[in-house]
Amino acid sequence: MNLVFLGPPGSGKGTQAIRVAEKLNIVHLSTGDMLREAVKNGTVLGKRAEAFMKKGELVPDELIIGMIEAKVTSGDLSRGFILDGFPRTIPQAESLKEMFDNNDIALDKAVLLTVSDEEIIKRIKGRAEQEGRADDTEDVARNRLDVYRKQTAPIVDFYRKESILTEVRGEDTMDNVFKAIIKTLSK
Ligand code: ADP
Repeated sequence: MNLVFLGPPGSGKGTQAIRVAEKLNIVHLSTGDMLREAVKNGTVLGKRAEAFMKKGELVPDELIIGMIEAKVTSGDLSRGFILDGFPRTIPQAESLKEMFDNNDIALDKAVLLTVSDEEIIKRIKGRAEQEGRADDTEDVARNRLDVYRKQTAPIVDFYRKESILTEVRGEDTMDNVFKAIIKTLSK
């Protein structure tokens, strides 16, 4: 199964993507994790991406698209995958479609986790205190939410038009959200 997971920062998308990938025995690809790894290793990509990430801004499309293209063309995705954190802009969604068309890959579903802004700010503040991730301060969290609404939310319509969008309410326990996702995938 080939999936894209969508949802605002703090929606639980990353956690659910890991669980669902494990359950379905498919690959979990998180652009956030890939970028944090690149920053840690001090690669050229990491050095360019770091400043954007710290501010809660999106890393420029061409950097991200190149990173994903390497995965798509390497055949790593042949047993199925969940893309988590990509695409995040309309140009990214369009490039992905082109990459998939060129490599005979089709997306089965785009899963959107819905969570209210109020709940998101609450969750991100909690996470900031626990994990101390550099991009989890309240100001940066608000900026990330703003960036999501402006730049990422439009791709929900992109997938709705492709008739593969499925929405799951993300304001429930982790287990219930997980069950709801598995249920929607079996339809
Ligand atoms: P979130 O907690 O918002 O789900 P991620 O771990 O997915 O965060 O991503 C962290 C940061 O990495 C983002 O705020 C952004 O700077 C960068 N990033 C990740 N994926 C992308 C992408 N597809 N396009 C641009 N920037 C990205």
